[in-house]
Amino acid sequence: AIDIAALNKWYGTFHVLKNVDLVVGTGSRIVICGPSGSGKSSLIRCVNGLEKYESGTIRLADTPLEMDAAKSSAARRQTGMVFQSFNLFPHLTVLANCTLSLRRVQKKSRGAASEIAMHFLEKVKIPEQANKYPAELSGGQQQRVAIARALCLNPRIMLFDEPTSALDPEMVKEVLDVMTSLARDGMTMVCVTHEMHFAREVADRIVFMDQGSIVEQSDPASFFAAPTHARTRAFLSNLL
Ligand code: ATP
Ligand code: MG
Repeated sequence: AIDIAALNKWYGTFHVLKNVDLVVGTGSRIVICGPSGSGKSSLIRCVNGLEKYESGTIRLADTPLEMDAAKSSAARRQTGMVFQSFNLFPHLTVLANCTLSLRRVQKKSRGAASEIAMHFLEKVKIPEQANKYPAELSGGQQQRVAIARALCLNPRIMLFDEPTSALDPEMVKEVLDVMTSLARDGMTMVCVTHEMHFAREVADRIVFMDQGSIVEQSDPASFFAAPTHARTRAFLSNLL
């Protein structure tokens, strides 16, 4: 579970996150949406310990995350993160991308690391690509490798930052299908995405952010049928 309370973050003088409160229960699936610049990436990067914040608290499974991102590696290991731009190592094969942290951080043997990696490459349905390099794969396949790589480290929580925005339309579905299957397995997930069909089908709560604040959060049915705030209505009408 994630428990964020009164979180504030600045970039210099720019107040990017303003008193954000958000609770994500174990096994729940949250979709965060909102206009560009509203602070969605900043928020999940704080949860992953990639960004520092200036006040408030973030607790991951009851362990407080240090405000100084550099000190929070233990907490950070509880989360896996998937970015818009895949972020695979181009000079390593798919399998080596997946085994790197297992070997270097977790000190697993080559055999044990490969076994874990192949298990998750099967889960994302590309075990046959294990010995290829990222440049030899489609965008959708690369993103599925990125998901498998994150899962190898056995995270309690998966964070997704617009995982399908950089993909050609025909590849979006294969990535969303993997995310849906993770959700069905009970993974706790926080997904920044504008894929509203996915949000409606998979999320148990949709959070709308604007200008550094959570403006509205509700279950998908109410979110789409009866958004409370004018800013949410304006955002949704722009998506259609
Ligand atoms: P998008 O939908 O475009 O990805 P977002 O909701 O994820 O937007 P953030 O990336 O969190 O928004 O950025 C929020 C605001 O903070 C933006 O105005 C952005 O310009 C600013 N910002 C983001 N990163 C930095 C940084 N490293 N230094 C200074 N300002 C930043
Ligand atoms: Mg973003």
